[in-house]
Amino acid sequence: MTDKEFTRIISDVLDALYPELHFVLERVPIIVDTYADDSVVNAFGNRPIYAAFLTMDRNCVPHIRLYKDDILNHPKAYNMKKLLRDIILHEVGHIYGLSCECISMRFGK
Ligand SMILES: [Zn+2]
Repeated sequence: MTDKEFTRIISDVLDALYPELHFVLERVPIIVDTYADDSVVNAFGNRPIYAAFLTMDRNCVPHIRLYKDDILNHPKAYNMKKLLRDIILHEVGHIYGLSCECISMRFGK
């Protein structure tokens, strides 16, 4: 999948999200990387790392990073649009301060 195709799916996912979330995501950029760098791996554990909500990364504003290579190898990558929606919504949960465990318990992701 090309970067352009991947970005297109992300745009489609964002367009279809609840309008209330657009207000949040307009202030939290989503950045696509090929894979998580060592600092992220060290902070979060071993690969695969599909995404991260980073609040103190190289003087950047809080943002979501999506790690394309690991996402493409996710067991549910056959439905990329649903997978990206689930991943982005998970990260939005972190914007609101929820832990991974809390998001999983509430939403099954
Ligand atoms: Zn999480």
